[in-house]
Amino acid sequence: MQAAPATLPQLLPQTQAFIDRAPTMLIGDAWVHAASGATLPVYNPATGAHLADVPKSGTEDVNRAVQAARRAFDDSAWSHMRPRERQNLLWRFADLIERDAQMLAELECLNNGKSAVVARVMDVQLGIDFLRYMAGFATKIEGSTVEVSAPLMPDAHLHGFTRREAVGVVGAIVAWNFPLLLACWKLGPALATGCTVVLKPADETPLSALKLAELALEAGYPPGVFNVVTGTGAEAGAALSHHPDVDKLTFTGSTEVGKLIGKAAMESMTRITLELGGKSPTIVLDDADPVAAAQGAATAIFFNQGQVCCAGSRLYVQRKHFDNVVGDIASIASGMKLGNGLDPATEMGPLISLKQQQRVHGYIERGRAAGAQIACGGEQFGPGYFVKPTVIVDVEQKSPLVQEEIFGPVLVAIPFDTIDDALRLANDTRYGLGASIWTNNLSAAHRMIPRIRSGSVWVNCHSALDPALPFGGYRMSGMGREMGAAAIEHYTEIKSVLMNV
Ligand code: NAD
Repeated sequence: MQAAPATLPQLLPQTQAFIDRAPTMLIGDAWVHAASGATLPVYNPATGAHLADVPKSGTEDVNRAVQAARRAFDDSAWSHMRPRERQNLLWRFADLIERDAQMLAELECLNNGKSAVVARVMDVQLGIDFLRYMAGFATKIEGSTVEVSAPLMPDAHLHGFTRREAVGVVGAIVAWNFPLLLACWKLGPALATGCTVVLKPADETPLSALKLAELALEAGYPPGVFNVVTGTGAEAGAALSHHPDVDKLTFTGSTEVGKLIGKAAMESMTRITLELGGKSPTIVLDDADPVAAAQGAATAIFFNQGQVCCAGSRLYVQRKHFDNVVGDIASIASGMKLGNGLDPATEMGPLISLKQQQRVHGYIERGRAAGAQIACGGEQFGPGYFVKPTVIVDVEQKSPLVQEEIFGPVLVAIPFDTIDDALRLANDTRYGLGASIWTNNLSAAHRMIPRIRSGSVWVNCHSALDPALPFGGYRMSGMGREMGAAAIEHYTEIKSVLMNV
């Protein structure tokens, strides 16, 4: 199952050079170290080897970055730029990402552990597609004219209209599971609408964000429009989320940290979007094609090592197909090739860190001790932070394995009898990010969709995202939406104007 290939493909020389030169961070037009001189080590999760040291920002660095973003927003070529030019600039930024796509994919692979092949066709390509989709919005931001009555101004000639205006300085804090893609989800609407950005990548995965900043400067963004501060969540993330001069916070990460950021935002009425955790159900009805459903359910949980916010981590199968579907998923899992993401044959890489490996494995061991059966997998191994793809049965709905986000390649499978049972079980966690229904019964799907409490529902597919479809969570999975026109609303304020003419 695990295979260390004799030789891994060579990195592009520019990838190695980027890592070797000890990346600094971009504030305004300057590539800088942290004011304190402190650095944060970055590791390769496939080997545990040290990759690079990046600046470990503190409050002073965050202040400087927010000031640079404020200056760029208030008084610069950027604030006077016409929508068409913002569109062209975002398109050029996407072109440069495409030019350097292989390098970015290699950085994602080295820094996150994911397959470089998958990073190229998924993370990087989806990031490019998303930025191009959002570029089109720059020229389509509209208010409306409003027929007003104003009874206290009976003789006035009135003209009422609304404007949508860029919200201002955006503080963007992202998780480590899709470092580049999550950054693009923030940058796209921010740059399309004319905001400026201070991006704080995850502690573990700062490299692709720094490369993105380099490409943004090359594309021609004025200094201060896009700043990156690297560092820890507790220090740099907290300083950014408490900063009174940030107009909007957009956060992707855990529900626990999301709550802290939400509280901090309320102190200064900072606008906020929270994309948080999930425990998404995959529901297989007895009329579904069981082979296709098993393949789909396996991909839903094992893609990206299970480190996907909307991963199908709970499987509910109508009793007739339960054994078949679970058996097929277990055999898919047992046949997966685990290894270094640089190896094109690798189907599953390591988890992000030793801490995450221990956390995920701890869930499995506690479940086993409580009587759950491990249908396949369950083991961890190194070097690197690997956990074998795991399927768990004989587990109760109230178990932490079913209720809590494990964020690893761990699937819990539970049979059900009726559609009402399936819906009750599917809705029975604190989360509400995504859900999939596997069925050939169109009416059953349509009847179930409104009864599922989640921001996305997929039928005969899972985690299928599109730049045009809003994405976000119900309940503890978050607030607000990314993607689609809904994202633009979150990066703009509405101004009402009434003129007595
Ligand atoms: P995390 O919440 O630990 O960290 C996310 C980011 O927040 C990092 O940049 C981190 O440095 C920063 N941070 C940590 N503590 C902070 C604090 N006190 N103040 C400000 N910032 C702080 O999450 P993670 O472990 O990096 O990522 C995994 C989580 O992200 C999972 O729960 C996953 O479901 C979620 N996620 C959600 C989506 C979505 O769109 N809903 C997408 C991807 C990941």
